Amino acid sequence: MLCFPIDYRSMSEPARQPKSIFTPIAGPRFTAPELPTYDALMDCIRCGRCLPACPTYQQTSLETFSPRGRLSLMRAVEDGKLDLAEAGLEEHLYHCLDCRSCNTVCPVSIPIGELIVEGRAAVEAKHPRSWIIRLVLQHVLISPSRIQKFTPPVRFAQKLKLDKLAGLFFGWIPPLKDLFQLAPQLPKPLWNDLNKPLGSPQTLKVSTYRVGYFLGCVMNVVFADASRATVKLLEHYSCAVVTPADQMCCGAPQDDQGLKDAMRKMAKRNIEAFEKLGDLDAIVADCAACSGFLKEYRHVFHDDPVWAARADRFASKVRDITEWLDQIMPAELPAKASTPKSITYHEPCHLANVQGVRRQPRALLARLKNKGVDVRELDDPTRCCGSAGIYNLTHPAMSKDLLDRKMDDVAATGAEVVVSANPGCLLQLEWGAKRAGSSVKVKHVAQVLLEAIED
Ligand code: SF4
Ligand code: SF4
Repeated sequence: MLCFPIDYRSMSEPARQPKSIFTPIAGPRFTAPELPTYDALMDCIRCGRCLPACPTYQQTSLETFSPRGRLSLMRAVEDGKLDLAEAGLEEHLYHCLDCRSCNTVCPVSIPIGELIVEGRAAVEAKHPRSWIIRLVLQHVLISPSRIQKFTPPVRFAQKLKLDKLAGLFFGWIPPLKDLFQLAPQLPKPLWNDLNKPLGSPQTLKVSTYRVGYFLGCVMNVVFADASRATVKLLEHYSCAVVTPADQMCCGAPQDDQGLKDAMRKMAKRNIEAFEKLGDLDAIVADCAACSGFLKEYRHVFHDDPVWAARADRFASKVRDITEWLDQIMPAELPAKASTPKSITYHEPCHLANVQGVRRQPRALLARLKNKGVDVRELDDPTRCCGSAGIYNLTHPAMSKDLLDRKMDDVAATGAEVVVSANPGCLLQLEWGAKRAGSSVKVKHVAQVLLEAIED
């Protein structure tokens, strides 16, 4: 069983089998149904273009921490040269951030990130993730309705400062130490306001669009204020917002940790929940990881005779909030006194690399630029901030090193506010600001846009 947290600085390379490379070993290999496609593994021409694009390679300069190296390890398993159960192999796959930066530069279009995630699912069968990860991903982080049940006691404890006390008692346990430091003050969850108009009466016009809103487990609880901003913006720009109460987690965290069965169950429940809403112009999510994975449902079910068409219909409606707002908002916005003077934008990997949505968030921020807001580009804006789902808890050393680089880049812009469009990034950046003692504010794109139009 794999334990966490993992410090990459103390890891060793997988030991070579003491046999000729021409002698296949007898150990277990990847097994169906999550078999990384051998042809795809063979497609690698070893050109090395993906190496400088990979944050974990940038950090270590080690081949096994690179996309090419991870593909080679999986190919060695398939060729019978490396045992799937080999200590350390799974951790090399799990050290990948699933940021998909490598996918964007590979000249032969190998879906490297997806293959690594498939490899993890195969390893999961032999080396299950730690019980706590499986408990959280299969019983806690499964739906907004489940998550919001934990919110009132946590908010109460935070009010009484009991979380600080718990931090003193349990903060020495490595994964909990980072969890206590990461955890922000929880706002009132959006859950109780579902399907109620949130905008002021004068902003509620006759609706032009009917939009299904995908809540997102973390957005709904940790960034409920940003979710409120999303709903208010949608209403302001003529959208009737409907939200199914029986929606589930999108399934991305489960997929990321190799728990494919749990992920498929959630995906089917989501497709059914949104089908029940009838005809929608779009299904909108303000969490880039969610919108990216909801679009991937068509790949998840591509060979399923019952679900393929339904998944395809569902995925074709999904829009990240930045895509949808860019489509419906006017070209110019009034900038109010409360609008910050300078903003920089951190691109979520799952928005830029997975969905290819790079222009729209910038186009939205450019609407503020027209009114004197200085929008400053980050150096390497898509480089992962180290959040990557629960990576910041399972791999704190690598995560913190990447975060510190990101915060140095943010500081170099001198911007008052850093915006992003993914709750994982927002949490990580807030933590980064705290660690760096920086006064930079961290906001969701929807929040700065709403501030610019609200009276
Ligand atoms: S997905 Fe990101 S971390 Fe993983 S191999 Fe590709 S570039 Fe590296
Ligand atoms: S960029 Fe693609 S082809 Fe080149 S080494 Fe990386 S995975 Fe292989």
